[in-house]
Amino acid sequence: MNNLSLDEAIQRLPLNTLARRLGIGGEIPDRDGKTVSCWFPENHPNGDRNPSFNLHSGLTRFKCFSCGIEGRGPDLIAHALHLPQHEAVNRFLVMAGGVSPDAVASRPKEVKHKPLALPADCHKGTEAEIEALAALRGFSPHAVALAQGMGVLGFGTVHGFPCWIVSDTSRKNAEARRMDGHLFPPIGDLKGRKVHTIKGSSKAWPVGIQPVHSTERFTKIVLVEGSADFIAAIHFLIDHEIWDALPVAMLGSKCRIDPDAVKLFRGRAVKIIAHDDEAGRGAVSGWNSQIAEAGAERVTAFNLAGLLMKDGSPVKDLNDCVHLRAEDQSELEGLFS
Ligand SMILES: [Zn+2]
Repeated sequence: MNNLSLDEAIQRLPLNTLARRLGIGGEIPDRDGKTVSCWFPENHPNGDRNPSFNLHSGLTRFKCFSCGIEGRGPDLIAHALHLPQHEAVNRFLVMAGGVSPDAVASRPKEVKHKPLALPADCHKGTEAEIEALAALRGFSPHAVALAQGMGVLGFGTVHGFPCWIVSDTSRKNAEARRMDGHLFPPIGDLKGRKVHTIKGSSKAWPVGIQPVHSTERFTKIVLVEGSADFIAAIHFLIDHEIWDALPVAMLGSKCRIDPDAVKLFRGRAVKIIAHDDEAGRGAVSGWNSQIAEAGAERVTAFNLAGLLMKDGSPVKDLNDCVHLRAEDQSELEGLFS
């Protein structure tokens, strides 16, 4: 941004040039100290018979020894155009090739993310913690360890409970779930809930889009909903030996994708796997159009409806697919092909 200070602007736009651009009627001197008739004849009802107006200080200041008017570029604009001083300063800065402070102030402010309040004891999981999470959700321990290696999974204490926490290196969004699988008890305005959003989170940020490693080699993105499906996506990508798909999760179905993050979908083939419920289906169509507009190579969605788990109950999300019955396993092949 080319934003001048007032002093720089004054040096850059000398008064003789400014006067010409303002259409000042009288003689315009091109050097310091040359006296001419006052540029403000209205101050001289009887005429400025003895020319007493001059520029000085390297053509940066004007003064009339008769009527007493004096000042610098902004003052000249204020008098010549009858503008309040503040507007005259802005006009002067713009004329000198800068940006008016008002224009700067009226620009849409960049959304500042509050610092993410991750627990103080947030740490890499021990082997026991990795095994415990794998057992709790039906993931392979390898997938849990890989998530941790990608910098998208940690462990720590939230509201007194040992938790697993997903986030990414952007540190813009994180959510925690209890290691014992129970709900968080109601706290203040918060109801009992299975997922606790870490304070400072921006729900619009897709977790996983900024892992610790470079994402250049990934030609595909698998976009899922929520932290459990996120680790499940990693689980299935490993299971199907797919190494060119980056797993990414929106931690909630109601949000549009952060405009900075959605750019990172450009040029990639994107598969969206949302929950098989109304909110999930709504999310798919919203994200689909947003990602397509951002220039993804193609966007497809996979619907989990109709799949059954080993116990015969319907699959609701990707995490449920770790318990998929044998007859439906081939569906997953298609899902990740
Ligand atoms: Zn004068």
